[in-house]
Formats: sequence, structure tokens, C-alpha cells
Amino acid sequence: MNKSYTITLLPGDGTGPEITDVVLKVLESTGIKIQWEIMEVGESAMEKYGTPLPDKVLASIKKNKIALKGPVTTPIGTGFRSVNVALRQKLDLFACVRPCKLYKGVKSKYENIDLIVVRENTEDLYAGVEFMPESKEAKKIIELSEGKIAKGSAISIKPISRKASERIIDFAFNYAIKNNRKKVTAITKANIMKFTDGLFFECGKEVAKKYPQIEYEEKLIDNMCMQLVQKPEIYDVLVLPNLYGDIVSDLCAGLVGGLGVAPGANFGDNIAVFEAVHGSSPKYKGQNKVNPTALLLSAKLMLEYIGEKEKATILENAIASVISEGKKVTYDLGGTAKTTEMGDAIIERIKYGN
Ligand code: NAD
Repeated sequence: MNKSYTITLLPGDGTGPEITDVVLKVLESTGIKIQWEIMEVGESAMEKYGTPLPDKVLASIKKNKIALKGPVTTPIGTGFRSVNVALRQKLDLFACVRPCKLYKGVKSKYENIDLIVVRENTEDLYAGVEFMPESKEAKKIIELSEGKIAKGSAISIKPISRKASERIIDFAFNYAIKNNRKKVTAITKANIMKFTDGLFFECGKEVAKKYPQIEYEEKLIDNMCMQLVQKPEIYDVLVLPNLYGDIVSDLCAGLVGGLGVAPGANFGDNIAVFEAVHGSSPKYKGQNKVNPTALLLSAKLMLEYIGEKEKATILENAIASVISEGKKVTYDLGGTAKTTEMGDAIIERIKYGN
């Protein structure tokens, strides 16, 4: 008998619900049995429950230990803070994994790119420790800096801990082994930030000793950006602190065809939330226009995670086949297909073969 899974679903807002609908239909066509616990977050949750991230959403993900999530809009300047960042913090989803693979048929200047970006998710300049100009705290830090910081500066703090660095680097090596990868590259700016980024590299060297079967190397972020543009095919698994990881994942998404095809996953200890790299693209809301591939490939990562490797491969092959043929693809891939038409083409491949 087919196994059944219970998974929390956050359709999100903007274009989120449109692509989520397509993903549910495509998953159903693989024959997998999933009971979805559908939850609202963001603006609509704010209106109904007075919070963008109700406790029952967190409780559902904690119970099921797994969620599939559409993008959620973060108001700029005013309103609530990012639901996406809050989810990562509250569930201690410390590792963000973003595979960047070039599929045949996607327009790109490159060939053979198959990179995995592993980003630390909990600390660094994202920790939100910031002080306003002329605040008591900023003045104290300026005094401590003995002339290195100009008076009246605003200050952001960059915490990097041994615990979080070892944990993310260990995760990257484990990911490399489980996914038959050969090399892990740690990336920072340790020549300038000797203590924070220096600690990240120190942890890299230590952790690498446990995994002699995987090659380990260190690169500086500026040089690495150039190398990724010039010869991305020589890299394999990249591991980075939070802010560099954020920037490099978008760079790598650009190498393989843009945000429409870039999937992602956030992992904690025995808990995972799968989501596309892209946001809610509010300007396209309701137009049935955006590419469902990024969320579909995130769902493929989810199938692998729950052990449904065969169905994951069927799904990936169907997506790859539709992209490679190029007839039923969305605008960002040079086509005119609607979100639902691309989804239907993928379902056809799943049902009747490539
Ligand atoms: P975005 O990713 O929503 O869109 C940027 C551009 O990328 C779009 O205008 C579009 O041209 C393209 N694009 C994005 N997704 C696409 C798709 N599926 N198919 C085709 N093209 C696609 O980024 P933004 O406009 O900066 O952010 C919009 C909102 O989303 C903001 O409120 C932001 O905070 C939020 N956001 C959420 C997440 C998340 O939920 N994890 C991630 C990033 C941004």
C-alpha cells in the first residue's frame, strides 16, 4: 500500500497561491499521497489573527516536521517583520540549501553548472543587532573603537559563533557525502574580517578533517564572485555565512536562468521547510503568468527528503523535458505559456512519459 504523508502547506501571498495550486496538482499526478495542513501567514493572517505568523502555523510545522511554502510579501519600512526570517529563526532552520543546476533549454552563457549553495541562516549581519546613529549603544561602541568608527555612525553587529559555523560546515560536508559530491568550498572575507570570518575558516579546517574523502578549499568572496562568473563549472558545494550566502545564491540563480527556476530548502535538526528562492512578485498576482518551476523543484527536494527518490526523479525529468522542448514554458524562459499550462505539460510527461 502507498505510504501517506502529512505536510504543512503555506501557499503564501502575491503569486504564491497560483504556483502552489499548480504544484499540488503536479504532485498529485505522481501518485504520492499527501495530507496537506493548509495554513495562512502574512497579511491575511495579520487581518484575521492579529499576527503574520500565528502560533498554530508553527505548531503544525513542529508537529509534521516538514512544510512546503509559497513566497510571502514583507512590507517595506512599516508593518510586520519578515515571516520568512521569523520562520527560520523560530524553527531554528539553520541551513539554507539552494541547488543551482542548468537545465537544457534554459538560455544561459554557461554549460554544465551544478552547484549547491549552503548558507548559514541564523547569525551574521542578519542577526538584527543594529544601533541607530546617536543611540546610547552606538555611542558606547564608538568609544570602544578608539577612533576607528566615525562619530554619529549607525552600527550593525556581525556575530559569528563557533557553534553555528561548525554546524553549517558539518551540514555542508554531510550534504556532499549524501549527494555524491566531491568538493566543499568555504567562502568569506577572512583577510579583512580576521576574527569573525577567520573563525568561520578555522571551523572549516577543523570540520574538514572528519571528511578526508571530500576535498576542502577556502576562497575569498570577491575572488569567488569573479570565479563563479568565469568558471562556475569547477565548483561543487559552497558553504557561506549568512549575508555572503544570500548574495551568492542570487548570483548562482542568475547563472542557471534566473529566479523562476531556483529552488530552495531550509533545514534544522529533523525539520525542513521547502520554498523557492524567489519572492511573491506582487505585480504579476492573478495573471497566471509566473514560472512554477522553482517551487516544483523545491517540491522535488522535499520528495527526496522524505525518501521518495523515485518520484523525485520522475518529477525532475518531467520538468526538464518540458523546459528542454521549450513549447510550454513561461515568459521568463522565452515562452508564452501560462503558469497552469506549463503545469499541465509537466503532468502530461509524468503520466505518459517524456
Ligand atoms: P521577487 O522574487 O518576488 O520578484 C523579482 C522579479 O523576479 C519579478 O519581478 C520577476 O521578474 C522575477 N520572478 C520572480 N519569481 C518569478 C517566477 N516564479 N517566474 C518568473 N519570474 C519570476 O522579488 P521582489 O519583487 O524583490 O519581492 C517581492 C516580495 O516578496 C517582497 O515583499 C519580498 O520581501 C518578498 N520575498 C519573499 C521571499 C520568500 O517568501 N522566501 C523571498 C524573496 C522576497
